[in-house]
Amino acid sequence: MYMKRIYSYSDAKKFPWLQRMSAEFLDRDAVKIVRRLRQCRHAAYFVGGCIRDLLLGRRPKDFDIVTAARPQEIRRIFRNSRIIGRRFLLVHVVFGEKIVEVATFRRAPSHEEKNLPVKQDNFFGTDEEDVLRRDFTINALFYDPYEEQIIDYVGGIEDLRAGKIRIIGDAAVRFQEDPIRILRALKLSAQLGFTMVPEVKEAIPQNCARLAQASSERIVLEVIKILQSGAAFACLQQMAEYQVLPVIMPHVARIWNDASNPCQQLLCRCLQQLDKIPAQTRSQLNDATLFAVLCLPLVFYNLQKPLQTLEENFCLKQLAEFAESLHLCNGLIVTISRIISLQLYLERAMRNGNCGSRPKLMRKNYFRQALDFLYLRTYQDTATEGIYQFWHERLPKQGRTAMKSR
Ligand code: ATP
Ligand code: MG
Repeated sequence: MYMKRIYSYSDAKKFPWLQRMSAEFLDRDAVKIVRRLRQCRHAAYFVGGCIRDLLLGRRPKDFDIVTAARPQEIRRIFRNSRIIGRRFLLVHVVFGEKIVEVATFRRAPSHEEKNLPVKQDNFFGTDEEDVLRRDFTINALFYDPYEEQIIDYVGGIEDLRAGKIRIIGDAAVRFQEDPIRILRALKLSAQLGFTMVPEVKEAIPQNCARLAQASSERIVLEVIKILQSGAAFACLQQMAEYQVLPVIMPHVARIWNDASNPCQQLLCRCLQQLDKIPAQTRSQLNDATLFAVLCLPLVFYNLQKPLQTLEENFCLKQLAEFAESLHLCNGLIVTISRIISLQLYLERAMRNGNCGSRPKLMRKNYFRQALDFLYLRTYQDTATEGIYQFWHERLPKQGRTAMKSR
């Protein structure tokens, strides 16, 4: 069905962006892993988002490697590694704070294997079989750093060039197998400004109800990636348009669709502010600060009268249903509530000049996260910019926020 194509540097004229695909842009430690696996006579390639991003001239978030070596073999080759996962075994090779994920080529299970009582996904296969299990054509390119070749079994290069999000195989089947792919399609399309091909567009509303049965842990991970993507506003717009938002976050969807409510504007503004801050800064925000962007409007939604104070317990109550719908853990939702409840305090205390009276509070982690949130809310907003600056200067040195002073 698909034709294998190999693109090497001799193709660079046809695809000018191939010239950018040089080893110097690859992570050095990841290159070492590929080299070592090769020395041990295992096929090994870069794969996934890193190749897609490098070809588009973007900085990859992480570097994924795929190899013919089995997890135990990979573990034996790299002393600084550990096997993770149960259903899906992977190896993490650790370099200080950096982790490079090394996976083994996999194949789709046969019909009988699919019905095995223990759900697992460790059916190892060939490189070609591995490609067919991946989600989108642009995510399924292999890169061989030694031959300097891109191996494309599914037309991913053409789709990258044309700016298309095309699923590998039948869209309905692939979304039924794993509905999380719906969120991945919407995120990629918003982030890269790519168009989903008609089959993908049609299959999303037809299959998105299945997200209600998907693991909430995986949904939360994708929502975090969406918030970090730099295109959170566009992505939520698409999620609303394709009827996905009410399935995964009905409380947020209600506000999104309530155009006459000021909370709808607050939600849009918070998302746009999040997209506007520098990518490097955004990557340092923790999950609670990212979620505060969605939760701030939820706290204020449907209030009968304006608030004089914003207590942590009140925020917790307002967010209870949202937290339950996503099975957010207690620690996370408490931190989000603290971050939000501190926003009014930070604005008031600055005006009254009494910030020095709570040194204990200023040493708390959630205080710094509340300042991170204040930073993004007030970023490039000349009317409120001074509030963040005021607090940043008063923080104990060791407690400075992730954000640089402006
Ligand atoms: P980024 O890391 O920039 O968010 P990515 O595409 O690399 O994007 P990862 O979650 O790191 O995303 O996944 C690595 C690769 O694994 C993907 O590019 C894709 O080939 C494959 N993959 C990830 N999730 C799925 C899925 N749900 N179904 C099929 N393949 C997947
Ligand atoms: Mg990746």
